[in-house]
Amino acid sequence: MATVHVVGAGLAGLSAAVTLSANGGKVVLHEAAKQAGGRCRSYYDPTLGLTIDNGNHLLLSGNADALGFLKEIGAPADALTGPEEAAFDFADLKSGQRWTLRPNAGRLPWWVLSPSRRVPGTRARDYLAPLGILRAASGKSEGAGGTIGETMECTGPLYERLWHPVLLAALNTEPRDSDVGLAARILRETLGAGGRACRPMVADQGLSYAFVDPALKTLQARGVTMRFGRRLRSLENEGGRVTSLLFADGPEILAPGDSVVLALPPWVTSELLPGVPAPREFRSIVNAHFAMVPKPGSPLILGVVNSLTEWLFAYSDRYSVTISGADRLLDVPREDLARQIWDEIATLGNLAPELPRWQIVKEKRATFAATPAEAARRAPARTAHANLTLAGDWTATGLPSTIEGAIRSGKTAAHALMCAGSPARGAA
Ligand SMILES: Cc1cc2nc3c(=O)[nH]c(=O)nc-3n(C[C@H](O)[C@H](O)[C@H](O)COP(=O)(O)OP(=O)(O)OC[C@H]3O[C@@H](n4cnc5c(N)ncnc54)[C@H](O)[C@@H]3O)c2cc1C
Repeated sequence: MATVHVVGAGLAGLSAAVTLSANGGKVVLHEAAKQAGGRCRSYYDPTLGLTIDNGNHLLLSGNADALGFLKEIGAPADALTGPEEAAFDFADLKSGQRWTLRPNAGRLPWWVLSPSRRVPGTRARDYLAPLGILRAASGKSEGAGGTIGETMECTGPLYERLWHPVLLAALNTEPRDSDVGLAARILRETLGAGGRACRPMVADQGLSYAFVDPALKTLQARGVTMRFGRRLRSLENEGGRVTSLLFADGPEILAPGDSVVLALPPWVTSELLPGVPAPREFRSIVNAHFAMVPKPGSPLILGVVNSLTEWLFAYSDRYSVTISGADRLLDVPREDLARQIWDEIATLGNLAPELPRWQIVKEKRATFAATPAEAARRAPARTAHANLTLAGDWTATGLPSTIEGAIRSGKTAAHALMCAGSPARGAA
């Protein structure tokens, strides 16, 4: 039976391996690290004395591929938690004002007519602003529609209190510089699809508990071979096909019907396949963790404006903060960040100013920059090699760098092999 080699065990690679192994195909998963999960994983942090995630991840109920993946791998029922209905709590640190945004469940957004459901100080007609994004993106290829700043007024109370925090979180790039096509796709699949599609969800018990451990268990049960600590250094090809994979610990020679899914970060893929386009600019994310059981009644997710803190998560054993597009903070001493962020949390939650045990995690290349230039550099799943496809959140999914995009890309890469008439079809 032909073998499919999946290289990279982040969510894109796991998704490709799950898709390819569904009908008993022979799959081998290779990963450079000692563990799976890539940018979406949990680990024990000795300073905090807690298991934390490499970054707080927010999903929405409209993330159909992510939820489908959880179902397929038999993830536990409590893998993701969140409010029963779409509700986003917000606080303005400067004014002390608090509000809850409550989109109604259906597609027709009547909630904007109800002052108690919308952002204070805004009018119903302000909510039409993103239509400019949808119009500008319509019918355009990735990166060709221009920036959000060119299509929408990026000032005013609604922008400051809703569109800026939401778009920054989704795109991890300053919204006014971000690609309209990426923003339009998110709006269509989540907010624009009504409250039913934008219930916020987090992995309270960890990303590995939700996504990675059940995926590995499924792959193991399906007989997939998993090889960790295997770094791919180069590929050899002949006659339009990949013929061998050269790993640091030795070569893997492909039999004539074998095929490959590369599910690697863009900078690694570019080195291995110099002709393939890939984003070259990235944006960082800073996370701050504080080991303290949150006060009862703390919102699970709180959007904060007029502050360094952007999103405050109240997990069962800690407070965690996410700051997106955070390149400006990379050189700020960790102690200063912890102090400033904790002061903000203490003000918001009326807590003592003494710092609990804390950890600052700076992910420098958390996502590709969601600008039109980078969006235009995304590669399709298919390559010039008949038996090689690409996956990864940076490939041309139409979505920004997200769990949803990574999982979708893995499925696309697997289906592209299966449909190509490649002998790897046997894996389908
Ligand atoms: C801090 C942070 C916060 C985030 N927040 C959110 C969020 O709130 N919501 C959301 O949806 N998304 C979020 N994301 C994005 C999300 O985590 C990513 O989109 C997703 O995990 C990418 O998965 P991937 O498989 O495409 O890439 P990766 O996870 O990068 O996987 C690539 C894998 O390839 C392996 N590898 C690299 N080189 C080699 C080699 N030469 N040989 C073999 N293996 C190799 C790596 O070790 C890795 O396991 C966040 C990301 C970060 C970093």
